[in-house]
Amino acid sequence: MQNKTDELGVIIYNKGLCYCSVCVPKAMKSKDIEKITNIMNPTGITSQWKIDKENFKGGEKNPCECDTDPNRKHYLLKC
Ligand SMILES: [Zn+2]
Repeated sequence: MQNKTDELGVIIYNKGLCYCSVCVPKAMKSKDIEKITNIMNPTGITSQWKIDKENFKGGEKNPCECDTDPNRKHYLLKC
C-alpha cells in the first residue's frame, strides 16, 4: 500500500521520545502538519503530536525557514 503522506511532502528529519522535527511545504496548515505527523509517526501513547510553542533547542524560531529549500519550513512538535 502506498503511503499517501509522502506525497504531501512531510519529512520527519529528527525524532525523539517527546520531540519531533519536520520539514514541510511552506503553505501547509498547522492542523495538517499535526495530523500527518501523527499518521507517519504515531506516538504510541494517548497524547498526540502538536506543534510546540517553544523554539527549537538550537534557538531557531518555530517554525523557521528550511536551510536547504526556500519553499519549505521546519516545525518542532511535542507530545
Ligand atoms: Zn527542510
